[in-house]
Amino acid sequence: MFSTTEDFDGQMEESLLHRLYAPEEFRKNGHALIDLLADHMQESLKNYKNKAIVYQEPQDEFEFWKQYKTSTSFEAFNKEVIARCVHLHNPKYLGHQISPPAPITALSSLLNAVLNNGMGIYEMGMAPTAMERVVCKEMCEIIGFTKEADGFLTSGGTLANLTALLSARSKIVHTNVWENGNSSKLAVMVSAEAHYCIDRAARIMGLGSEGIIKVTVNKDFEIRTEQLELQFKKAKESGLEVFALIGSAPSTATGIYDNLERLALFAEQKKIWFHVDGAHGGAAVFSKKYKHLVKGIEQADSIAIDGHKMMMMPSITTALLFKNGKNAHQTFQQKADYLLEESLEEDWYNLAKRTFECTKYMMSLHWYILLRFYGKSVFDSFVTTLYDLGSEMGEILAQDTNFELAVKPVSNIVCFRIINPKQSEENLNMLNAAIRESLLKDGTYYIVQTKLNGIIYLRCTIMNPFTSKKIIKDLLQQIKVKARELSV
Ligand SMILES: *Cc1c(COP(=O)(O)O)cnc(C)c1O
Repeated sequence: MFSTTEDFDGQMEESLLHRLYAPEEFRKNGHALIDLLADHMQESLKNYKNKAIVYQEPQDEFEFWKQYKTSTSFEAFNKEVIARCVHLHNPKYLGHQISPPAPITALSSLLNAVLNNGMGIYEMGMAPTAMERVVCKEMCEIIGFTKEADGFLTSGGTLANLTALLSARSKIVHTNVWENGNSSKLAVMVSAEAHYCIDRAARIMGLGSEGIIKVTVNKDFEIRTEQLELQFKKAKESGLEVFALIGSAPSTATGIYDNLERLALFAEQKKIWFHVDGAHGGAAVFSKKYKHLVKGIEQADSIAIDGHKMMMMPSITTALLFKNGKNAHQTFQQKADYLLEESLEEDWYNLAKRTFECTKYMMSLHWYILLRFYGKSVFDSFVTTLYDLGSEMGEILAQDTNFELAVKPVSNIVCFRIINPKQSEENLNMLNAAIRESLLKDGTYYIVQTKLNGIIYLRCTIMNPFTSKKIIKDLLQQIKVKARELSV
């Protein structure tokens, strides 16, 4: 279907476009693609011989696609793409924090892709705009917010966090930065273990290094809440106006949750904005067993929760929820409260007024389908299953003297390393990095690594609900074998 032997005169160009848009071609290719993907998912789940990743060096991969013959069929192309991507549906995928999407949401992606409504204003996405309100209100209710709460969907946790901090600035800061630019020194407070996008957001907002107050963490990698008062005082003394406090739920590297209740209390005392970065684990609100981890979340002024991490959706889609929905209308305009009051109700359906994006995809389809067709208990099952397995993996590691945990896992993120009393810290760092490298080249399992306090840890995020205890034991066995091989 990629053959283009015809000459490119006007006539032919028209027929090329006709062919490109031919519904029958779409039907034929679409059915074949669905079959291919269904087979792929089945294989990934069942065939334990399949590799989670067949790693290629960047330059080799580049050369491959540079010389790729477009005369091959669409089917051959699809097979090649699948073979050359990491496989999230494989239960031996234990890498970065992204869902194996529920297959139904892959279909809603297709629905979105064909209709391609741009969502900026109401007419450009009537059904999905209304659905967005439904799901955001539902999410607010699940959080425990009151009916003033509201929110919207946006393209990822990174953008959601930036947007929340812009709302915070607009609401809390005494000067009108939107209109006049930065005239005073502003700052936010956050854990030193927070996701790097918070630092980036603060810098984008012109706060500079000084404006990002990184509060140290305790031995369990939680923000030291007893440091808040001192840090706040120091900031004030050096002429900074702190306008927001950010809690991680959890922090990315370790999967450890900050004490949201204490952070909320502090923010309330200081009359500053409290934002919860729940990109990864905000979805714990759905889990009867694990919602204690996000105790206090309902006191946040804003919360970001990724759909593509712990909610089984394709990337990227994030709910940004506000305790007071009105604050979201203030983000991208000068303060004019009297106008806002009037236009609020009629404005809910023109989403681009509140989102950073102009065009965005019809992401509410995923949320609506999962919440309505499967119900919120499906998120309880997903989060609980994965967090349970994280704890079990932690227990297995704690009982094996070859391993050391960075911290006892409380979520589905587990950081650990091979230890050996005969080796120096430096050697252990090299050994653990070499193990991760060797696992990557082998490709049976996909795991990552992280550095905490200068120590290199292997890092697993259990994202696939079909990862079993046996798979984890086999992985750890393989790591021990590799440690022996690489130590000599
Ligand atoms: C993943 C993550 C982010 C970034 O979210 P994206 O959706 O990847 O933009 C922010 N904060 C935390 C805690 C995360 O885990």
